[in-house]
Amino acid sequence: MQVMTQPQLKKVEITSAFWKRYRELVVKEVLPYQWDVMNDQADIKIAEDPQNNGQDKNSHAVANLKIAAGEMKGHHYGFPFQDTDVYKWLEAAAYSFSYHPNPDLKKITDNLVDLIAKAQEPDGYLSTFFQIDAPERKFKRLQQSHELYTMGHYIEAGVAYYQATGSEKALTIAKKMADCIDAHFGLSEGKIPGYDGHPEIELALSRLYEVTHEQKYLDLAHYFLNQRGQNPDFFEKQNEADGIDRDLIPGMRDFPRNYYQAAEPIKDQQTADGHAVRVVYLCTGMAYVARLTGDQDLLAACHRFWNDIVKRRMYITGNIGSTTTGEAFTYDYDLPNDTMYGETCASVGMSFFARQMLNIEAKGEYGDILEKELFNGALSGMSLDGKHFFYVNPLEADPAATKGNPGKSHVLTHRADWFGCACCPANLARLITSVDHYLYSVHDDTILSHQFIANEASFADDVTITQENNFPWAGDIHYTIANPHTRSFKLGLRIPGWSAGNFAVQVNGQAEDVAVTDGFVYFAIDAAATTIDLKLDMSVQFMRSNNRVRADVGQVAIQRGPLVYAAEQADNEAPLWLYRIDRNAKTESHYEADLLKGVTVVEAAAHREPEDPADADLYTSAAEKPAQDTQLTLIPYYAWANREDGQMQVWCRRG
Ligand SMILES: [Zn+2]
Repeated sequence: MQVMTQPQLKKVEITSAFWKRYRELVVKEVLPYQWDVMNDQADIKIAEDPQNNGQDKNSHAVANLKIAAGEMKGHHYGFPFQDTDVYKWLEAAAYSFSYHPNPDLKKITDNLVDLIAKAQEPDGYLSTFFQIDAPERKFKRLQQSHELYTMGHYIEAGVAYYQATGSEKALTIAKKMADCIDAHFGLSEGKIPGYDGHPEIELALSRLYEVTHEQKYLDLAHYFLNQRGQNPDFFEKQNEADGIDRDLIPGMRDFPRNYYQAAEPIKDQQTADGHAVRVVYLCTGMAYVARLTGDQDLLAACHRFWNDIVKRRMYITGNIGSTTTGEAFTYDYDLPNDTMYGETCASVGMSFFARQMLNIEAKGEYGDILEKELFNGALSGMSLDGKHFFYVNPLEADPAATKGNPGKSHVLTHRADWFGCACCPANLARLITSVDHYLYSVHDDTILSHQFIANEASFADDVTITQENNFPWAGDIHYTIANPHTRSFKLGLRIPGWSAGNFAVQVNGQAEDVAVTDGFVYFAIDAAATTIDLKLDMSVQFMRSNNRVRADVGQVAIQRGPLVYAAEQADNEAPLWLYRIDRNAKTESHYEADLLKGVTVVEAAAHREPEDPADADLYTSAAEKPAQDTQLTLIPYYAWANREDGQMQVWCRRG
């Protein structure tokens, strides 16, 4: 017998019916659709986009690259970071090749890489807005320019494309970009002692380091994290030098320094403040660099931010960002359900952060949050047809409020075709096509299986782990571990928080008592063949929030397994706020194959007050109004807004 000192994960094939549908949908619908949009060939409307700033329906993202490459004439169009739509799309396509080889798509992506190489300047710089329309302002207004954010997204795409296809060209573009940034940024004489207003480059450089092993890329990522907030007036000084009123994105100058996580050094920042996507991208970079360098200050900051977000600032669905003003966090326990933001990108970014933390520490809570995002907050961002998207993911919505209250106009009750600021659709696409990267973490001689997404994983030494289940609808998880050379290693399986009090384990058909350590149960594997059966608690659970959350007090939400449920007007009589549920109400759940591509529906015994007549007084004596016994029908949150427009709510009055 030989110990596997570091089991090496080679490949994961997703077999989960639930995720295979989404992954094929991305290949068949999302990628072609997004390619058409970016080439201005799709018939789309962005009028409903909460971020729409009066631009027309064109994306122009590919045209911008063609102009920078000298293949077309014209001006740049769109946001300074318009290029990132193309890069995230390229990254999503790269991942898809691992499960759906597609020579036609590969031709398009190879040509795209050629175009990007042509658009890149000899010194490695690439940001089409500045190249086309403001070459004299390169790196001069980093608060708003998104140049390092933009190049960071290419670096991620370039690394992914290289790993998927072996394209040296794609990797060379990324290295040249990083070299360009390295030449311009740092603390030595003549360099810019600054950083980007939008974190991203930190995690991108870490990825580039992992594939190239070039220390300078890791050092540069570390520099950006250490330098952030060291000179809190860095952005203001740059803005003044550039011409104070020459904003690249109107309004961005008015946000406080903590919007950019730049008010003080990261090691001194105590709370997760500012723009939610920036926070979680920054955290992902922090966790990445903390693991690769052993920087304990960064690791401590990761823990602080994680706890602040998860324990005080996250919706039950995993969504984050309590206000539309600055797409930002607000203060602890401030989680309004109907004016919130909950950007899809923020849930995607939180998934990145959770994955990086799992790479550092074997703690089940990271796997719990990753699962929460994958099955709720992030997945909600895309319609079941793959052609409509949410930027904002509310927990309570009403078409009348969207239309009639300007403070809720950003909360749509159906997904939009596209956005003027189109960060979310391709971000979710790349998460879905790479979900196979999110199922295992390896620590020393231990393989952690922390997601119940059915798959076949192969490791070095011909070890394979096969996981079969009908998750998220059923909680029976069957593992088959083949270990033909009888290597010795440990396997850790996550016991989800929602099943912590009620689960059962069998090893080779025999019931076994196992202790839970930080959310995992561990098995010593050394036989050639082992089976493990895990039975998780799929009963309907009534949840409440911490009672410091004003918005949810006196209310319950329904969860079954990893899925948070929502009531929709399509199944229930409006107004939905007249329903009440006892916390021990009788419930029934059943799978409906023809509803919403197949979902388990929950029916809960409920009471409902009759609605007051239209001519009733606005205020009247508070005597209890008799309620009628009825039922409330709930569907998984991710699947809401796929039928007619109507009200939706996750939280329901208790009683
Ligand atoms: Zn977004």
